Amino acid sequence: MASKFGQLARSMGRLIPPALLRHAGQPAALFFHGVERDTLDGRVQTNHHELAVFEAIVAVLRQQFDVRPLTDIDAVLAAPQDHPRAVFLMSDDGYANTLSTAAPVLDGLPWTLFVSTAHIGTGRPNPIFLARLFYFYAPNGVYKLPHLPGTVVLADAESRQAAAQAGIDPLRLLPGEKAEEALAAMTASFPPDQLAALVARFTSEHFLDWDGVRALKTRGVEIGAHGDSHWPMHALQRPDWLTRQAAGARARIEAEVGPCRFFAYPFGNIPDIGPGAWRAVREAGFTHAFTTLSGSLAPSLTEGPAANPWLLPRYGIGPADTHLASLVPLLSAGNRRVRQFRTRLAG
Ligand SMILES: [Zn+2]
Repeated sequence: MASKFGQLARSMGRLIPPALLRHAGQPAALFFHGVERDTLDGRVQTNHHELAVFEAIVAVLRQQFDVRPLTDIDAVLAAPQDHPRAVFLMSDDGYANTLSTAAPVLDGLPWTLFVSTAHIGTGRPNPIFLARLFYFYAPNGVYKLPHLPGTVVLADAESRQAAAQAGIDPLRLLPGEKAEEALAAMTASFPPDQLAALVARFTSEHFLDWDGVRALKTRGVEIGAHGDSHWPMHALQRPDWLTRQAAGARARIEAEVGPCRFFAYPFGNIPDIGPGAWRAVREAGFTHAFTTLSGSLAPSLTEGPAANPWLLPRYGIGPADTHLASLVPLLSAGNRRVRQFRTRLAG
């Protein structure tokens, strides 16, 4: 779900030689999700880098950037101009393949894993993955889903693609409880055992258990929170639900792994973060939180009334972003949008 700005930066970065941009360097936060050797169906496995591409991306990070542990964030935010090549590398959600496949590639580099605690060790899949399974694998038929407009016609590949395209954004904008009812109707459309077989087949979507999270921590990976259930913290969510996403996730990580002070918003773009979200995150005791709005960690975002360490920009590394050296210096073009968003949420 890349933003238009992210897509633009991605394509422009391909055209500009890195040497021309070297003087324009600013620190930035970058994230990925999972890393896979083989993908069976890109329509439902939307979050993972191919291993060979990921290796190329990491080689660029090692050669062209100063990859820093997230515990250096205060120093970098205090004087971004002194850290033009600094990047913070992060992975969202907590997929099992971050331990089996990403961690060996990242050996020796500092990175942070943001986990959605309700999914760790429970076998509970990411809700958007379940929705995609419904749209692409549920039996042919006409469905009426609670809280979602219209009827859903699932027949051939084309109608399924159209239904997924029309259905996923309205689902994402529902309050947590209503989304769960819509998802329950989606999963109930499968014959017994078929859904479990599908979930088992797509191993890329399997989450870590807590032993796996601890194994990463032992390798030096910083563990942060990515909500409790993996669902947007937008303006329609109730205050107690937001508290569970923020304080609840932090308490669980601290009980299982140890101190936790960093947060990343699930989905994390403008429609996914309401005014109550960053306040719930601040009140839960997190010192910094990351959105998925593209931007750099430039002085324009770290000083003055627009400064807000609970709404930091972060760039989602695209599936073929091996040209990060020319792309990262362009991220500051998104900072104006980040400032406007912060101002809107401050009111
Ligand atoms: Zn996520």
